[in-house]
Amino acid sequence: MNLHEYQSKQLFQRYGVPVPRGTLIAAPEVAAAAAAQLGGSRWVVKAQVHAGGRGKAGGVVLVEDRATLEAEARRLLGTRLATLQSGPDGLPVGSLLVEQPTAIARELYLSLLLERATERVLFMASAVGGMEIETLAAQAPERILLARVHPAVGLQPYQVRRLGFGLGLDGSQIKSLGVLMEGLYRLFVECDASLVEINPLVVTETGELIALDAKVNLDDNALGRHPDLEALRDPTQEDPREAEARAHDLNYISLEGNIGCMVNGAGLAMATMDLVQLHGGAPANFLDVGGGATAERVAEAFKLILSDPKVEAVLVNIFGGIVRCDLIAAGIIGAVREVRVAVPVVVRLEGTNAAQGLQMLAESDLAVETASSLSEAADKVVKAAGRHPGPDAEERGQ
Ligand code: GDP
Ligand code: MN
Repeated sequence: MNLHEYQSKQLFQRYGVPVPRGTLIAAPEVAAAAAAQLGGSRWVVKAQVHAGGRGKAGGVVLVEDRATLEAEARRLLGTRLATLQSGPDGLPVGSLLVEQPTAIARELYLSLLLERATERVLFMASAVGGMEIETLAAQAPERILLARVHPAVGLQPYQVRRLGFGLGLDGSQIKSLGVLMEGLYRLFVECDASLVEINPLVVTETGELIALDAKVNLDDNALGRHPDLEALRDPTQEDPREAEARAHDLNYISLEGNIGCMVNGAGLAMATMDLVQLHGGAPANFLDVGGGATAERVAEAFKLILSDPKVEAVLVNIFGGIVRCDLIAAGIIGAVREVRVAVPVVVRLEGTNAAQGLQMLAESDLAVETASSLSEAADKVVKAAGRHPGPDAEERGQ
């Protein structure tokens, strides 16, 4: 789960990481009051969306008076902001962070992530600010400084000094860096983060370190023990189908292709997607309906797949181990009755009550093709998708 910049900065403050003074607004009418409360005569207005690259997209602006502040708030609030990271449709701007401007001397980069290969929390830092870390990693990897924290001993002073010298900081700044890194490390571990990124971390004209931007991603699997963090979720920033799936306890991830996949078991779902690719198709989603799928959940899953306009054919691949294939068939039949299905459906059922399930499908009035092997199913669905261009295939240039 991703947090907004303002939420990440609130967490930073809790862990002693300095951030600019700011306040959140959700309506242009309160912009002037927010400015008055912050004081000063210039402000930075920052669109709160779950994507970086806002600066270049006009989502971060410096304003010099209250009238312009209010005008910028009107321009941004209620619209969608498209950045290089958001996809072409952009993300809705529901709120703005209004901050006191920072006088920047240098822009640095600092992040923490989990490095699985070494089983350590990894700090990445660079003196090259204002550049995306991916670009830097590709073009000048030697300019990225690394520090791996041993979980038993924690962050060591020598690691802070090494990074601090590498970043060109002076003695007192290295001291501040130590406090900041300690705070970030505690935040990362205590909140079960998967990524904390500050781009840019700035050295101000008076020599202080301050997190000008803030990005925190949390490990979804650990949200169960952080109800306070889970409450920070902003569904307006998430794929609506993924949010719907979560509400039904379905494991769904939307992808770029045109073949909807309904599978039980994450491993089987991956293998199914591989086979679809192998036969020349592209999956529209990953979906694991789970081992204990009921007819209702299957119906919900089916509706979810069909709600994606990219889907030109559906592949159902169920291995009935815990789940019964007749229940799956009932779910498919129920869902298809409820929503109009304009695309072909290929079904492969195997395992408990498979014959019964296939018979139910055959006896229903649905135009369902069946397959007896996974390879045959993949082949059939790819061909079926080719024969049935979806309703919006033309506008996507296919
Ligand atoms: P992003 O583009 O979504 O990553 O948004 P950032 O929060 O990183 O802001 C983009 C850029 O705006 C920063 O890299 C800074 O160069 C600039 N910026 C943001 N806030 C301030 C500020 O308070 N003062 C100055 N001088 N520049 C700022
Ligand atoms: Mn940034």
